[in-house]
Amino acid sequence: MVPPIFSIFLTTSALSFLPLLSSAQNTSAQQKGAQCCKLLTQAFPSKVAQNGTTAYTVDDTDFWSTSEWLSPSCIFQPTESQDVSDAVKLFVENDCEFAIRGGGHSAVPGAANIDDGILITFANMKNISIHTDSQDVQYVSVQPGAVWGDVYTYCDQFAVVPMCGRYYPVGTGLALGAGFSFLSNANGFAVDNIKTYEAVLANGAIVEVSQTNSPDLFRSLKGGGNNFAVVTRYDLLLYPGGPVVGGQITTPENQTEKWLDLTYDYSVRQAVLDVNTHALPAILYMAGTDEVITNTPVYYNSHNSSVLPPIMAGWYNMTALNDTVRQASYAALALEFNENQGDGQFQEQRTYTITANREEYARVWYSFLKWGRSIGNVTGLTLLHCNMPLTPRMMNAGVEKGSNSLGLAGTDDVLSILYFGLSLDTYNETIVNSFNSLFDTLQSGSKSRGLLNPYIMWNYAGLGQDIFLSYGQSSLNFMKEVSKQYDPTGVFQRLVPGGFKLF
Ligand SMILES: Cc1cc2nc3c(=O)[nH]c(=O)nc-3n(C[C@H](O)[C@H](O)[C@H](O)COP(=O)(O)OP(=O)(O)OC[C@H]3O[C@@H](n4cnc5c(N)ncnc54)[C@H](O)[C@@H]3O)c2cc1C
Repeated sequence: MVPPIFSIFLTTSALSFLPLLSSAQNTSAQQKGAQCCKLLTQAFPSKVAQNGTTAYTVDDTDFWSTSEWLSPSCIFQPTESQDVSDAVKLFVENDCEFAIRGGGHSAVPGAANIDDGILITFANMKNISIHTDSQDVQYVSVQPGAVWGDVYTYCDQFAVVPMCGRYYPVGTGLALGAGFSFLSNANGFAVDNIKTYEAVLANGAIVEVSQTNSPDLFRSLKGGGNNFAVVTRYDLLLYPGGPVVGGQITTPENQTEKWLDLTYDYSVRQAVLDVNTHALPAILYMAGTDEVITNTPVYYNSHNSSVLPPIMAGWYNMTALNDTVRQASYAALALEFNENQGDGQFQEQRTYTITANREEYARVWYSFLKWGRSIGNVTGLTLLHCNMPLTPRMMNAGVEKGSNSLGLAGTDDVLSILYFGLSLDTYNETIVNSFNSLFDTLQSGSKSRGLLNPYIMWNYAGLGQDIFLSYGQSSLNFMKEVSKQYDPTGVFQRLVPGGFKLF
């Protein structure tokens, strides 16, 4: 609740009483950030965490990658959408830069944090609630501070499940990119299963964005990240839930060839023929022990079994170090999958897309591994490579459910999203540069063999990757027009500098 004395500041017109930073252009970024925080604190005395306080430190380090540990001038912790609306107006009137954090799992430096600006976090906006609309459609409303594990825990009680991230602490920003979920083979990306976004626009208006209300903005938000609005509520469609089959299968290095076979088979056969299947084929190299393991979360959407179905039997046929497949709740699976994904390391990531191809899978992984082994025993160095299929059904679900920005509809081939992750205890410029140039070499190699697809998945992309152009020129042009319409002065381009930008 806002104390009554300050409520006058929280109306549109009242915000104009706040002093403008007329001389701000001449002050340093640090001073300007401090002035913006002073104004924000006057308007919201109990909702701004100041540098040096515990609340600030806790929130400022609540990121998966240490590359996101920046120094915001202060942290704004709204409790309701109206707070966000009033704050955006204040930021615009005073030319204050800001960043928006969901669950803090982007590895892109500055995507969800900022130096010398205001960081908005949703530590106090985490509500989750189930509803049914007038057409009898059931959905779950999620405030932007909730993480997917909380959403599963809540929905498990009602035996329903939304299309959202598979790892417990990952946040709602996922649903502004594309978003793989356990049920993606059946229902498409997370963005294709959003019913409504509540969003605060550049002028502070709080709007409901859906297929019937602002369909152009709705399409643009599905893939557009933080370029259009601050999203203050996500309504996600629900599917039948309850306990399902899932777990992780871990194998030693000598199973790599079988793992590559299975990854290909899953992509072009299992995921296509049976949309209740799901796997996240992953392989890791740990420099400390010079060890390779495959570690694949597997899943089947059946509520009456504790084993994978015959079509997924191959996953059992590897010699496993560990196999946790059993009947489990979504929340338990999301927790388990995240066990080795804690915060606090430096993370660099890149992704590109190819047409599914077994030989290319091997070429890419063995080159990545050879590079990792050439670096030597650097403390904490871990490579993670994931290979995730996009089936035609999955890519076309977007069009059937009202379109998205991703430019993938109409694709007839199975595509493979190739993810490359580098973890280090501490940032090492030489290694990071070498990783990035290796990535460029791998991508060019796939291109030269005619396998490269232009799509770059927002969720797994790294700094500098040209996401929006990868959606295709016409999609990019459409998004730019929508941006000009809803944000004519480019607030989300100028004042929100972090993340992938349209312009
Ligand atoms: C361990 C791990 C597991 C993952 N699992 C999956 C998975 O299962 N499926 C999948 O598709 N991806 C997955 N990802 C990738 C994930 O989708 C991205 O990292 C995504 O950015 C996470 O969203 P977030 O809210 O946690 O991130 P944040 O870093 O908080 O935000 C990411 C971007 O979204 C913007 N943003 C966030 N909230 C808002 C808002 N309310 N309004 C406007 N802009 C906003 C931020 O400004 C930022 O640019 C995973 C990543 C990790 C590290």
